[in-house]
Amino acid sequence: MNNQISQITNKAIDGGEITALELRSLLNVDSLSEEAYLIQCAARKVSAAAANGKAEVYAQVGMDVGPCPKDCQFCSFAPVNKVFPKEKVYSLEEIIEKSLRFEVDGANAIYLMATANYKFADYLEVTKEVRAALKPKTPMVANIDDFDEDEARALKKAGFAGVYHVMRMGEGIVTGIDPQVRVRTITAAQKAGLLVGACVEPIGPEHSIDEIVEKAMFIKKMKLVHAGVGRRLKIPGSPLAIHGILTGVQQAHIVGAVKLAMGYSIAGHGAGCGCEELTTLAGGNLLWAESGSNPRDTKANTVIGGTVASKREILHETGWKIVDGPSVLFSPR
Ligand code: SF4
Repeated sequence: MNNQISQITNKAIDGGEITALELRSLLNVDSLSEEAYLIQCAARKVSAAAANGKAEVYAQVGMDVGPCPKDCQFCSFAPVNKVFPKEKVYSLEEIIEKSLRFEVDGANAIYLMATANYKFADYLEVTKEVRAALKPKTPMVANIDDFDEDEARALKKAGFAGVYHVMRMGEGIVTGIDPQVRVRTITAAQKAGLLVGACVEPIGPEHSIDEIVEKAMFIKKMKLVHAGVGRRLKIPGSPLAIHGILTGVQQAHIVGAVKLAMGYSIAGHGAGCGCEELTTLAGGNLLWAESGSNPRDTKANTVIGGTVASKREILHETGWKIVDGPSVLFSPR
C-alpha cells in the first residue's frame, strides 16, 4: 500500500482540504489497485457523512432536439455528429406531462433542458407553465445555453431553484463556447440567487489528469451546490468516438478521487453516465433519470438514462437512503 495515498485519504476523512497536487496523486494510481479501492471507500464515507447518508434522484426533461449552433463534439445535437438533421420542439403539453410523471415517480428535482436553439423568452414562457403545474416545493433546475445577469434574475423570478451549468472538458476546443462565457453565466446565476450544480464531464480516455484536476478545482472554487463526475458516452460517427470511453472501473476511481477533493462542504456528488452500481459505491449520491431529448442519446425520446425507479433501485442496492420529496440540495436554505 502506498503511504502517500493513505495519508491523503485520511486527511480528507479528517476534514482536511485536498490540494490540486494531492488530487493529482489520487488520480494517478491504477484504477484496479488497492489504493484505488481505498480512495473509493474513503470517498463513500465522506459523501455519506456530508449528505446525512442520503442520495437524490433528479429527472431531466429534454425540450427540443436538433442541430445546435454551439457544436460541442461530445453532444448528439452537434451538427458535426449528424445525428439530428431536423429540429423538433416538444409541445407544452408533452413537457408538462413528462415533468408531472417524474414528480409522481418521486424525482427530487425536475431539470428542464433545452439546446442553444431554444429562445430564452420561449423557454421562460413554457417553464412558467411547468412551474404552475408542479407542486410548489418541487425544485426546477434549468439546463440551458449561457445567459446574462438579467436572464439569471428572470429564471429566479420564474421559479427556478437552480441551474446545471458546467465548464465542460475541452471547453472552447471541442465546443463552440468560450470558457469565460461559462464562468460569466455561473457567476450571474449565483448573483441572482440560483443554486448551481455541475460535474466534471464529459470525461474520455484522452483527457489528462491535469484537466480533470483543473475542472474539479473550478467547481470547488465556485462553491457549487453539487459536484460529480460523468464519462463521455460514444456517439457513433463523432470525431471523438475514436477515443473510446472510460470503463466503469476508471469512472468509479475518478468519482471517488474528485469526491475527496470536494470534501464535506459540497454534499452532492453526481455519478451518472452508466456503471452506477460502481460509481455510487465510490461516493456518488446523485443520479439522473431522463425523458425527451438528451445530448448523449441518438434517439429523440430517450430512456437511455433510465427511470426514477431504476435510479432509486441502484441507490438502494448500494446502501443509500433516498430523500423523499423535494431535493434537499436544491431547496432554499
Ligand atoms: S452540449 Fe448543449 S450547447 Fe453544446 S451542442 Fe449540445 S445542446 Fe448545444
